[in-house]
Formats: sequence, structure tokens, C-alpha cells
Amino acid sequence: MSKVNKNKIILFAADSMLGRLAKCLRIMGYDTIYRSHYKENELSELSKKGRIILTKNRKTYSSYPNALLINHDKVGSQVKIVDRSISLTRDHSAWFKRCSICNSLLSRVEEDEARENVPDFVFSNYPKNILFCPVCKKFYWPGTHKDNILKKFRDWGFK
Ligand SMILES: [Zn+2]
Repeated sequence: MSKVNKNKIILFAADSMLGRLAKCLRIMGYDTIYRSHYKENELSELSKKGRIILTKNRKTYSSYPNALLINHDKVGSQVKIVDRSISLTRDHSAWFKRCSICNSLLSRVEEDEARENVPDFVFSNYPKNILFCPVCKKFYWPGTHKDNILKKFRDWGFK
């Protein structure tokens, strides 16, 4: 039985050791906090704010009412564990809207700014599809990296 209420906006906090899972959830559009080390009480505060706690630690899992135990090392299996409890979105329009590194929402970039900041071949292929992370100051665009992620998601059952 899942302890998670499915009828709310889904926010996650991924415990240490779940960095790759956090990245995947961010790419799927989910607001996911991740730190390699949490301060004392930090997870507890995040849980009180309504975040679902994802953890590999049984003790942590049993400490929170809205937690999922991620008892697997492979990121694909970890995503599937979350999906079984929460039914992650298959809506591609929600994907690639959030920075996988820092969790910020990406913003669209004007064509002039994009032209100055990305390689020429990228700009000529995707002039209207360049996104920017305001925190990391990193530009994102479609291409091989994105295709590889999509392939992985497909392999995990996200068509
Ligand atoms: Zn960022």
C-alpha cells in the first residue's frame, strides 16, 4: 500500500544517494529538491511542507507519513518505483521545462540572445527552442543529449 496521496500537486524531496533519480524527476517537470547532505530536521521541514520524501533509508522512510522507499540502485528501477506509486506524467509537454541541475524552471530565450550564446549549428536548427536556466546561467536545447534521455525514458516505459 502506498502512503502517498495522489490528488495533490506533487513535490518531491530526494534523500542523499538519489541524485540521478532527482535529475530524472526534474526533467519530467517535477519540483524535486535534492541535496547530497541534508541538515538535521531539513527533510522533516520539507515533509511538513507537503513534499514526498524519496529515500533509500528504511529508518527515514518510516519516519515520514508521505515517503517512498526507493530500494534499488539503478536509476531506471528507481523511476519505476516512483511511477508505481504516483503515476508519473507521460505528457511530453511537461518534460524538459526544469533545470536538471538546480530544479529552477527554465525560461524561453529571445532569438537574439540565443544566437549570441549557443553554437551556430544549434541556433540554426532550433532558433525557437532554446531555454535558459536563470540560476545556473546554462542554455538548454534539443539534440543528442535530449534524444538520449528520451530513449532512456522510453526504455523505462514512458512513451
Ligand atoms: Zn539551473
